[in-house]
Amino acid sequence: MTRKIAILGATGSIGKSTLDLVEDHPGRFDVVSVTAAKNVEALADIARRTDARLAVIADESRLGDLQRLLAGTDCRAAAGDAALIEAASDDAELVIAAIVGCAGLKPVMAAVEAGKSVALANKEALVTAGELMTGAAQASGSVILPVDSEHNAIFQCLAGSRREDVARIILTASGGPFRDASARAIAEATPAEAVAHPNWSMGAKISVDSATMMNKGLELIEARYLFGLTSDRIDIVVHPQSVVHSLVEFVDGSVLAQLGSPDMRIPIACALAWPERIETRAQRLNLTAIARLDFGSPDPERFPALRVARQALEAGGAAPIILNAANEVAVASFLAGAIRFPDIVELVKRSLDELHFDAPTSIAEVLDIDRRTREHVDGEVKASCH
Ligand code: NAD
Ligand code: MG
Repeated sequence: MTRKIAILGATGSIGKSTLDLVEDHPGRFDVVSVTAAKNVEALADIARRTDARLAVIADESRLGDLQRLLAGTDCRAAAGDAALIEAASDDAELVIAAIVGCAGLKPVMAAVEAGKSVALANKEALVTAGELMTGAAQASGSVILPVDSEHNAIFQCLAGSRREDVARIILTASGGPFRDASARAIAEATPAEAVAHPNWSMGAKISVDSATMMNKGLELIEARYLFGLTSDRIDIVVHPQSVVHSLVEFVDGSVLAQLGSPDMRIPIACALAWPERIETRAQRLNLTAIARLDFGSPDPERFPALRVARQALEAGGAAPIILNAANEVAVASFLAGAIRFPDIVELVKRSLDELHFDAPTSIAEVLDIDRRTREHVDGEVKASCH
């Protein structure tokens, strides 16, 4: 049976891995729509390769170029917010949410409200919308299938068990490129060093998040909403090999883990084919070659992002939105060379201390908090540059 899919963020790292899987399984998936931020050449190429019927470029100024590149095909070119929402909510049965950042929130929400299955990589959308998104999924019958490797692991370990039998979940963290670096070396980290992840090849933003460990902080909040567990039931353990992708401990003391080589095609394949399985080209796990698996506690002094994120999770309301927005602006500023590496988490922490908003009751309010936080952090970055 062919499954109709939409790929939001088709030109990115998750988008590309998804396309690899689709092309490895001809006839299994029908790509109906694809989207990207600005790269019209890459998007048009993907649209042609997949025979998509709709290609959406977020940047409206590139629409003319996209139309020219798709001339003579059956693929319609479109641009802007409304078109992204159309791609997410129109024809597909399964939406691959692989946009980076809160920019993906409206299309993901549209897919959820339309009752689609959503393969969710775009963790920032769930971190910012939280209960609004899980509530909408319950109302529409939308199934959210986690693609983030840790959450996909937990999803697999939970299969068939009752929620009340779960004692806690344990998210594993590689520790990122600065796992063993001194506080002094971390303070001087350059963008090139921060994006050089030891185990995973990913987009720039999530690579920096892995280096600060804010990625694990966002994942704590993501886990809270995906699995409905309070903060005290979500632990983090550093596991440098990235082979055990996460674990679930049950009330009887049993612990289930999901293992695999660190290749995003495995969790993406799980979400694409669920509840079935499809083959992937990912390297098979060779336990004797790996020989050992290490586990340790994260260091809250060198990685303050973990504490800041846990506080935002426990505060709830607007705090996860402020955390995410401040982090997005700070990471972009760091990549642009405007601030130092430790300033990223410092800016996030200060934003959480200084900004206060009521808990949002709609996505419009979430986006308003997001916008106001961005303006605040932009101002701080500009002030620090003078
Ligand atoms: P990426 O930067 O490689 O790709 C991002 C995609 O989103 C691109 O297609 C880009 O064109 C699109 N995009 C960016 N800004 C946009 C905007 N304003 N409007 C519309 N589209 C926009 O990122 P990635 O590494 O593929 O990550 C995507 C998401 O998946 C992130 O939320 C990330 O945290 C999550 N994730 C990624 C990995 C990984 O291995 N790459 C693992 C787990 C989770
Ligand atoms: Mg992850």
